[in-house]
Amino acid sequence: MIIEEKRKKLLNSLIGMPNLLNIPVLNEALRKLPQLYGNFLVRNELEKLRQRILTAELSELDTIDIEPELLAADIARLIHDKAAPSVYPAVNAAGIILHTALGRSPLAEEARMAVNTAAEGYSTVAIDRYSGKRGDRYLHVQDLLCFLTGAEAACVVNNNSAATIVLLNSMAEGKEVIVSRGQLVEIGGSFRIPDVMMRSKVVMVEVGTTNKTHLRDYKNAISENTGLLLRVHASNYLITGFTQSVPVMEMADLAHKHDLPMADDIGSGCLIDLTEFGLPHEPLVQHSIRDGADLVCFSGDKMLGGPQCGIIVGKKRYIDIIKKNPLVRAFRCGKLTYSALEATLKLFLDRETLLTKHPVMRLLTRTPEEIGRKERVFLRKVKSFLDGKCETKVINGFSQMGSGSLPGRDIPSKVIQLKPLKMTVDDLANRFRKNDPPVYTRIENEAVILDFRTVFPKDLPHLQIAFEMIFKDW
Ligand SMILES: *Cc1c(COP(=O)(O)O)cnc(C)c1O
Repeated sequence: MIIEEKRKKLLNSLIGMPNLLNIPVLNEALRKLPQLYGNFLVRNELEKLRQRILTAELSELDTIDIEPELLAADIARLIHDKAAPSVYPAVNAAGIILHTALGRSPLAEEARMAVNTAAEGYSTVAIDRYSGKRGDRYLHVQDLLCFLTGAEAACVVNNNSAATIVLLNSMAEGKEVIVSRGQLVEIGGSFRIPDVMMRSKVVMVEVGTTNKTHLRDYKNAISENTGLLLRVHASNYLITGFTQSVPVMEMADLAHKHDLPMADDIGSGCLIDLTEFGLPHEPLVQHSIRDGADLVCFSGDKMLGGPQCGIIVGKKRYIDIIKKNPLVRAFRCGKLTYSALEATLKLFLDRETLLTKHPVMRLLTRTPEEIGRKERVFLRKVKSFLDGKCETKVINGFSQMGSGSLPGRDIPSKVIQLKPLKMTVDDLANRFRKNDPPVYTRIENEAVILDFRTVFPKDLPHLQIAFEMIFKDW
């Protein structure tokens, strides 16, 4: 058979380890890593290629290039990457403030310093400083969270997904949890409310319709098997038109009449009324607590601007039950998270401090004029590289909150529009991405868009070099 012959031929002509290691470009790259680890990586790549040849269809087989120099160059690039930190700094010029793939919220300097101090040696993460007794790690942030949200108690776990699971499981294992059909959200990948309910060992009872859920829908669904009424914030989508949902206050009242708890998965831990800044409304944690929710859970690294974690605040008697759940131990976070979270929460104690030092608030409240000015100053610096190669303009555009906060509501901004003359926009965006450090942009209307809302001063020299490298010799 022709395919088997081709396969055999490719395998027979595939370069062996010793010869591959001697090709200068790879040999050079391997000096960056301890020898055994370097060889391990090269062997893996060679083996992957062998497996690909062994399993490829005919059409794919014809595209496999085993030219030794090419192979060595590819693997050398991989070796360079492995020698550098894998979680590598990146420039976010996409204007998406909470970009999940780029690490969601940047941390405030205060939070970074706190992490550094906690990482350096030992710390009192789970010990009471005065009695020397084993302490409760939630106490580091409990007073802050209670003060900021009006709740009685708090608990912190690995992320909001974990918070939701531990909340459901603690409140209603083996029982029914009533939720509106309009709130059965999927938050990227595997966080889908029906699956989360199943894994939390509760029985989901859906009520209402996609667009409308009434108080009576919840009321009619309550039975002796009910364990919890749950509201989930539709963080990443909007249901508009002929719609109705039940406010927290009414859900909480109904739950309490039946001696049941009511919980609110609010998604983004927003503590500041964004409408004051002319931004779209996002529900506030303290309002849910005020309106009677017994438990509210949210992410630490969305609007809160802290480290990845999930925060549950609410009534002490329920938080006490949650804290006893072994899942909390399994989902708990470490000293680095607590340090960063405490420092981030302290920024919220003073409005002035918050607006100058909290990165998410700072980026969010930048005005289009301020952003446009920075973009024009920058463009003047790189203008000489672009002449005759790319049309540039600063135009009105939009930034996004990202991570499912403020869904469907863009934030006015000024953006740089790049229209390359002799390459495609995909090609240009690719070149930005392949820069060191990688630069992430957006493609819109046949143009590459850079939004300086999310560009930090430290990024500017890198961005300038990126423009120079991309446009200079082309
Ligand atoms: C983002 C979000 C989650 C998941 O939070 P993670 O911190 O990403 O685990 C859960 N529920 C809602 C409503 C969300 O918006």
